[in-house]
Amino acid sequence: MKVIVTRTLKNIVKIKYDNGVLKVVANCFLSQAKLKRIIAENSEWVASKKQAEKNNLNIVLKEEKTAAKSNNVLFDSVLDSEIIKRIFAGKTTMILGDIVNIEESMYSKTYLDGNTLYISEKVFKNKQDRIKAVKAYLRKVAALYLASEISEFGSNVSLCPSKIQFKELDGVWLNCADAGQKVLTIDYRVTQLPQELRRYIIAHAFAHFRNAVHDEKFENYLSNIMPRYKDTERKLEKYAFFKDV
Ligand SMILES: [Zn+2]
Repeated sequence: MKVIVTRTLKNIVKIKYDNGVLKVVANCFLSQAKLKRIIAENSEWVASKKQAEKNNLNIVLKEEKTAAKSNNVLFDSVLDSEIIKRIFAGKTTMILGDIVNIEESMYSKTYLDGNTLYISEKVFKNKQDRIKAVKAYLRKVAALYLASEISEFGSNVSLCPSKIQFKELDGVWLNCADAGQKVLTIDYRVTQLPQELRRYIIAHAFAHFRNAVHDEKFENYLSNIMPRYKDTERKLEKYAFFKDV
């Protein structure tokens, strides 16, 4: 059975069975092993859903369509101009596709609580300092979470990078020339993007392990591991402004 896992900052595990696919929403720091255990523990429930779906296939398909529609609405509203302004002011950011507001705290350490990133009062006063603190936090998310996402993807396609490094890159999300040498040089700000877009950037990087340039062979391989990647490329354009923050 196909399992799609979406990671979130929220401290939840949600399992939904839909048209032969198990859709799981789970906290980003919950380990893969623990998640597998939770799914196994719910196998009876999944089996019952499978049976119910067989009986009621048409209704489920209709629900699926409605859900897809509302997801698109959410995707567009994420980037309204007010939020973009706040992002440039260092008052809002995105972490793993979730909008996160930035607030001051009496503690000196930067920490995330739900959908709020707290930074110290002193740092919060100045716009440049706020942005610097957010970037430092995103670097941590890259080292803690993005790195494991990359390793997981690599093991799925049986490719292993010789080195993974996170940098601030000019105008691009990853260094394609490095990827051709099996070195993953990825902009740590990728941690702001939703899962689908992070996945595209990782897939693109791994596709360069086989083909250094963007030729037909490269595109064929990429579409094998990510069939709708052209759509994802277009969605990614909406997030280009993150490179200017
Ligand atoms: Zn490339």
